[in-house]
Amino acid sequence: KKYVYTFGDGEAEGDKSMKQLLGGKGANLAEMSAIGLPIPPGFTLSAEICDYYTHYDGQWPEGVEEQVQESVRYLEKLMDLSFGDASDPLLVSVRSGAAISMPGMMDTVLNLGLNDQSVQGLAEKTDNERFAYDCYRRFIDMFGNVVMGIEHEQFEEELQALKEKEEVTLDTQLGVEELKELVNRYQTVYRRGTGKDFPQDPNNQLHLAIDAVFRSWNAKRARTYRKINRITGLVGTAVNVQAMVYGNMGKDCATGVCFTRNPADGTNELYGEFLVNAQGEDVVAGIRTPRNINELNEDMPESYDELVEITDKLEQHYQDMQDIEFTIQQGRLFILQTRNGKRTGAAAVKIATDMVEEELISRKGAVANLVEPGHLDQLLHPQLSQSDIEEDAIIGRGLPASPGAAVGKVVFSSEKAEQQHEKGDPVILVRIETSPEDVGGMSAAEGILTSRGGMTSHAAVVARGWGKPCVAGCGDIIINYENQSFSNGETTIHEGDWISIDGAKGLVIEGQKPVEEPSFGDDYHAFMRWVDDIRDMDVRTNADTPEDALRARDFGAQGIGLARTEHMFFGEERIKAMRRMIISESEKERKRALEGLLPYQREDFVEIFEAMEGLPVTVRLLDPPLHEFLPEEDEEIKSLSRELDIPLRDLNQKIRVLKEFNPMLGHRGCRLGITYPEITQMQTRAILEAAVRLKKEGKRVEPEIMIPLVGTSEEFIHQHEVVDHMADEVFAREGERVDYKVGTMIEVPRAALVADKIAEEAEFFSFGTNDLTQMTFGYSRDDAGKFLEPYLKEGILENDPFQVLDEEGVGTLVRIATEKGRSVKKDLKIGICGEHGGDPSSVRFCYELGLNYVSCSPYRVPVARLAAAQARL
Ligand code: ADP
Ligand code: MG
Ligand code: MG
Repeated sequence: KKYVYTFGDGEAEGDKSMKQLLGGKGANLAEMSAIGLPIPPGFTLSAEICDYYTHYDGQWPEGVEEQVQESVRYLEKLMDLSFGDASDPLLVSVRSGAAISMPGMMDTVLNLGLNDQSVQGLAEKTDNERFAYDCYRRFIDMFGNVVMGIEHEQFEEELQALKEKEEVTLDTQLGVEELKELVNRYQTVYRRGTGKDFPQDPNNQLHLAIDAVFRSWNAKRARTYRKINRITGLVGTAVNVQAMVYGNMGKDCATGVCFTRNPADGTNELYGEFLVNAQGEDVVAGIRTPRNINELNEDMPESYDELVEITDKLEQHYQDMQDIEFTIQQGRLFILQTRNGKRTGAAAVKIATDMVEEELISRKGAVANLVEPGHLDQLLHPQLSQSDIEEDAIIGRGLPASPGAAVGKVVFSSEKAEQQHEKGDPVILVRIETSPEDVGGMSAAEGILTSRGGMTSHAAVVARGWGKPCVAGCGDIIINYENQSFSNGETTIHEGDWISIDGAKGLVIEGQKPVEEPSFGDDYHAFMRWVDDIRDMDVRTNADTPEDALRARDFGAQGIGLARTEHMFFGEERIKAMRRMIISESEKERKRALEGLLPYQREDFVEIFEAMEGLPVTVRLLDPPLHEFLPEEDEEIKSLSRELDIPLRDLNQKIRVLKEFNPMLGHRGCRLGITYPEITQMQTRAILEAAVRLKKEGKRVEPEIMIPLVGTSEEFIHQHEVVDHMADEVFAREGERVDYKVGTMIEVPRAALVADKIAEEAEFFSFGTNDLTQMTFGYSRDDAGKFLEPYLKEGILENDPFQVLDEEGVGTLVRIATEKGRSVKKDLKIGICGEHGGDPSSVRFCYELGLNYVSCSPYRVPVARLAAAQARL
């Protein structure tokens, strides 16, 4: 069986479609090699080996050893060098890379193949001793750290000590003798850490390094990253072994990273950083401050031109913005990696519309591939309002690494960030720089601030990927971990103090600044038009107020899928009337109290219908258990008793009677309307009187009355009759009719199972997936927090079923109800109005079932529109 795939010299055994097997890095190296780009040759060990390694206690499958040896011979031949040769050694890098890119998650070892002998050979052959020993000390450090688990700090301390002794600040200022000394010191660190000498046999080095990459797949930080990003379904990481090219041979060498477009705002410009005389990680590790890629044009114009040419070619080939690593060895350019670049929401939309304009990609292609639903979500994030930022509140300016505003209390460690976040405190994580160990804290924080590192530093890359505001490399501030504070020389900020950051401008601001709603540009609107052209499933919104309704229309909602009426009863006067209704002793009293509510309710509907201008509006009748409307505190109960003129004892008695053991399974939903039909009557009257009034004013209205919590068709028939009866009354009195529909929420599992019977009576279905999930799992939504977290940690559940629709269980009920409903009424209008209506994967599921619409909160409407379009492509 084939486990190892070679690439090099204009050919490759793999290609870009083989990511599952070769990982993103390996598949793209193969692809680039095949299209003739200058790629150092190498080979890729497939992810299947990692899977085997994990399951068979660190063993490789049969035949892999031989395939690796063969591939090494192939490399030697292409490079005309030999692995382990003492006088002119072939050196390689060992690089991890899974199917989905995980920046900085898995480690890389460079310069592998060196030993005490061959380092001298390399020095002689290249006539560059400094270079050879620079490679060797890097190799010992990386190998010690990545493969043997010695802390990088221990090597770093030696380096610092030596620099101090020599009174220099940069690595590049160390001479040959110092580097030799460093190699000795590193070997001592290695011996101290492992109890063994540094391994001298290159084959042994290679084997150990490959194993280390396989192991790193299951390291805690890699698992955390996969969990946070919900990366599942991968068997492991591939390993790439690739001939080294050297960016550290002198002034005509360099290494760098670049994006084909600006990943923060999408501008079509080469964007990136490089360092002269440096290797690999130096650019992202923040060892020296990297230089802007444009300056490469001055230093090495030929290489720069070639780089521009290749980046253009890569963008055209992949039809997407690329994130590229390159190295220049003595004036020769090599590409070491390419992948689709992570970008902010704003950049994603701009790049998509620009690429369509440049005819690089079709509209369909752009909608399908260039913008993710999450990108749109980011665009909707609040920004700091300009007028509220006084110049002297700005305590630092750093790089605008990831846009959006974040406001929170300062913490200096990831641990602390996670703790505070658990308590519900918003925090800003402030670090000199971040490393993969910090991802938990970064995820918990509202925003991230670092004092060191560039636009491609770990903090910047991870934050952009998550759409989390980040200011990076803010050199204006000095962080003191010991005192838990940072300062710009004038102002000192301590742990727990509030700051605000603006990730689009790179500003750090003292205090808790107000944020404002975002605005949208032309490219956003153009893109969303393409989305709507492609999409054929409607997107509605859940809105209870005219303000929400208007906002949702701005976001493109095509109707209201759920207007909850109970939220309308909480105003000051209203709650009084509501309470009076609830504690009424007789039907007559209750009716009188309801009369008091009618005008408010009617006014609400007039405004909501007006806001929606003739788009359908689904109004759900009263749903929650009544005691939710009653006061709980003694003081409040006392004052209610005075207000309603009821003896305190009687009121307390009444409240006690209304208490239920399981209110969510108690006297609520249509059960209220059946026991107190006058509630349904009042609500129907309010809805239809509002509709009639608007119709008389010449406006269009499309009311849909929805009966909640139906479990039997008899319940529905009962309420349907009450509604129709009242409707006739209203129309007769008003001398005007409006068309209205009566339908039901499907949220009790039984309703899904008898949906055909219910459909005979109902004019529409709407899946209330919140309750349906609650009742299908038997998880109380209000108590599930206690066990959902551990369930997710243990992997008992893959997702929180209240966020992502459980297709297997709850989804089966949705499918059954849809099929049964439509078996009776072919064109039955069916939608979904739970939280899930705004979750992309759930939207896809609804599309595949053939639902007519999804309904979600206003801010999720653009997300759902894109998800619905992508589901169709
Ligand atoms: P990561 O996924 O963390 O970026 P990589 O495997 O891409 O890890 O490598 C880390 C750094 O080493 C990158 O800057 C890369 O360009 C550099 N590098 C990797 N392989 C080679 C090589 N064969 N020659 C020169 N530089 C290399
Ligand atoms: Mg890389
Ligand atoms: Mg419900």
